[in-house]
Amino acid sequence: MSHQVQRYLDQIREEFIGVDDGELADYIPELARVDPTAFGLSLSSADGFVYESGDAAVEFTIQSISKPFTYALALDTSGADAVDAKIGVEPSGEAFNEISVDRSTKRPKNPMINAGAIAAVSLVPASSPDERFALIQDYYSAFAGRRLEIDAEVYASEKATGDRNRAIAYMLASFGVLDDPDDVLDVYFRQCSLKVSATDLARMAATLARNGVNPLTGRRVTDAAVVRRTLSVMVTCGMYDAAGDWVSAVGMPAKSGVGGGILAVLPGQLGIGTYSPLLDAKGNSVRSVLLCRRLSEELGLHFLTVSRDARATLRAVYEPHDNIRVYEAHGDLLFCGAEQVVRTVDRGCEDFVVGILDVSRADDVDEAAKALLSGMSTALHDRGKAGFIVDPDRLVIGEGSEFESVRFTTVDDAVDAAATFVRGQLSGG
Ligand code: GLU
Repeated sequence: MSHQVQRYLDQIREEFIGVDDGELADYIPELARVDPTAFGLSLSSADGFVYESGDAAVEFTIQSISKPFTYALALDTSGADAVDAKIGVEPSGEAFNEISVDRSTKRPKNPMINAGAIAAVSLVPASSPDERFALIQDYYSAFAGRRLEIDAEVYASEKATGDRNRAIAYMLASFGVLDDPDDVLDVYFRQCSLKVSATDLARMAATLARNGVNPLTGRRVTDAAVVRRTLSVMVTCGMYDAAGDWVSAVGMPAKSGVGGGILAVLPGQLGIGTYSPLLDAKGNSVRSVLLCRRLSEELGLHFLTVSRDARATLRAVYEPHDNIRVYEAHGDLLFCGAEQVVRTVDRGCEDFVVGILDVSRADDVDEAAKALLSGMSTALHDRGKAGFIVDPDRLVIGEGSEFESVRFTTVDDAVDAAATFVRGQLSGG
């Protein structure tokens, strides 16, 4: 049941609640004023269903998580050639706010460090800072599926204290990368000060996962080529100078910000948003990193291990008798496919007494899907129903499993047992 996924997410979040390592960002007083214990997790499936755990609705400033989105907007509006002429795509190995450009090209090394992000702002064509910011705000809002607003105090403070970013912007002007440093910076400070929640981040990530279509609104925000380029720089440069660690341990294109958020994307499958403002020495949220590592390990989300087809796997749903419904799955069942199966059963469960999951035509079931599917009978039982599974090849229910009693080798056997169960229930009142 989708409750199982909810319970699982709640449980891993609770596991890390006690972790209080790290420091709040304090380069401006407003960031140091947030609640250090806040901790939210949100996961959006590719079809837009969102699970929320803890402080998933608490708003914080997007900060550097804005960078991939303005880069995408620059690609969308100015085209890849114009963007490539001004911003590289090489990991820098330097701090995010390093005052530097590539030695030979004199361009910022990539769009995920401040130099590249400030250059990306200048590549959004507009006739005034207000117009440019409005385009950026609309664009991020379309990814999130709701209107995002600015935190006026953070913006004022970023602007008042942003000398280092000023140094970067003037350096870029001196190399001819941009020509209106103060105007561009003003927009950059505003974009960093837009407020998001973990759920907004999950939805923004899901829009990237869906190749630019927001699964909530159905609206196409950008195209596949822009998404691919944006995700590529997130893979190589998204996690400050911990990008290498992140790719090997978590394996999802991601971006973090000093506000405490992380946005992670599993292309084609899901989007994750997390929030916990205590940061490690590299500027990444301590508990968010732990959550993402755990999710990736346990749900098999590393993008380099997923080469199989994980799309919707329900081939047929039918009712051989009143009160008995059969769900027939096929293909490879990974976490996302299994999640969709259990959610579909969950949604329909008011309309049957016995739900039968038929996996006799499934090809392969990974560990995460196995755990989810084998728990279905217990979840249905808790709701006063019964759940059987047709699993002749033991793809889900292994030898000696506690779920042996609900396993059948043919659909007919399962339907017969279901009919007996239904009769028993009806006569028992
Ligand atoms: N506004 C911050 C800056 O530009 C963003 C820092 C970050 O999230 O990395 O310095």
